[in-house]
Amino acid sequence: SHIYANNRLNSRGIDLSNEHVLAALEADMSAASHIEFNVQSITHYPAAHSPAHAVLNPADHSDVVGHVAFIKPEAVADTISTAIAAQTSWQQTTPSQRAAILRKFADTLESQKHMALLMMMAGREAGKTLPNAIAEVREAVDFCRYYADETERLNLSAPLGTVVAISPWNFPLAIFVGEVVSALAAGNTVVAKPAEQTSLIAHLAVSWLHEAGVPTDVLQLVLGAGDVGAALTADTRINGVIFTGSTDVAKRINTLLAKREDNPVLIAETGGMNAMIVDSTALAEQVCTDVLASAFDSAGQRCSALRILCVQEDVADHMVEMIKGAMDELVVNNPALLATDVGPVIDKEAQDNLNNHINALKQIAPYHEVAIKSTAASSTFVAPIMFELKDLSQLKKEVFGPVLHVVRFAAHELDDLIDNINSKGFALTHGIHSRIDGTIAHICDRIEAGNVYINRNIVGAVVGVQPFGGHAMSGTGPKAGGPFYLQRLSTLDAWDLPV
Ligand code: GLU
Repeated sequence: SHIYANNRLNSRGIDLSNEHVLAALEADMSAASHIEFNVQSITHYPAAHSPAHAVLNPADHSDVVGHVAFIKPEAVADTISTAIAAQTSWQQTTPSQRAAILRKFADTLESQKHMALLMMMAGREAGKTLPNAIAEVREAVDFCRYYADETERLNLSAPLGTVVAISPWNFPLAIFVGEVVSALAAGNTVVAKPAEQTSLIAHLAVSWLHEAGVPTDVLQLVLGAGDVGAALTADTRINGVIFTGSTDVAKRINTLLAKREDNPVLIAETGGMNAMIVDSTALAEQVCTDVLASAFDSAGQRCSALRILCVQEDVADHMVEMIKGAMDELVVNNPALLATDVGPVIDKEAQDNLNNHINALKQIAPYHEVAIKSTAASSTFVAPIMFELKDLSQLKKEVFGPVLHVVRFAAHELDDLIDNINSKGFALTHGIHSRIDGTIAHICDRIEAGNVYINRNIVGAVVGVQPFGGHAMSGTGPKAGGPFYLQRLSTLDAWDLPV
């Protein structure tokens, strides 16, 4: 595991406590919200599309964000042919030429008007709060600059070829951009398919990548649902897939690629049943802050988010009471409001899945639930909730939303607890709150997790500083934003390259 004990930020953020900054940002965001977004895929040649459908703001369905037409699955083969034809010329560009384009795109993202437009879209299309929307843009910028530096450092000239990038709605800009620019930086041509829920923001990013200098045949955007992703990954001419999303879909792609003789590359980052272990020496106030950030920020819709809080029984009553009090302060409302801490979940399907889990667990476990402030007639809010479980067997699967599960443990049960967490089969993030070095070292040794965070929250890995990713059911590695990522998108062996 990579072990992270501190918080460090990379590129510039925005100071939301500065009223001048905020006023300028709000003016730009509100100007941007009047633009009509009617989009379809961006392919080098016109492709067949289905009729457009409306995209609704998850916080308020009466707000129509734009219209999207999905590509017909049978049309995606042409995009692959186009990418293959463009491969030779793109891989003849130098690492510095490619890096310059990515840095130019990063500058675009950082300019106030573009940033405001993206933040507005992250809020209205994906339900992101303002701080989350800023972090989203910042992470996208970080990915561009980091992979630009990396391709120069490694002097990459032997790309895989044509890479399919399939990205999730929970980081509709950051992960989308991270996947696309990593593949481009290494010299690959790319066909990108973002999550169907967040087509608009991906469309903006690709238009600006083209404006920054990526040729339209080198990077194409296909908009659609799962059938489009399936058509792309089933095309036996592709050389690699970068996928972030569910474990089930990653397994399907893995099975498909494994049947081929030529060993296409799969980089998959999936989910986790992430835990945090809090012993009796932990600083209660810090635990409380970090638990709230880890479990409820982004409405719990992060792969890295905290699902299972394990508290040593001696301090559990106190800890749970403090967390309840802090939960009562959370503002669950439209993310357009600065005071909002928790926005909606992405869509009706996500809301239904979460409600099924919540309603079933309410029958058997005590809980504490936050009130929803939003008064929208139609929306997909889920109230943040904390359940107190008897033991981990009451939690069967990953739950992707603002639902925290608490279990208690006695000091002598620590190893059993860790083994129990490991037995869930995931290995993504893990948190430790303790002031005993020996305990921290022991848990680090025994826990299966890609990223372990000590005495801090467990979300928001910073590109280049905290490479992010897991193993087992959580993914294949290499870690995003880390020094081995681009090597996996190249045919050079890792041991031929500088580290
Ligand atoms: N990189 C994100 C984090 O550290 C999580 C990525 C994801 O949810 O897929 O919180």
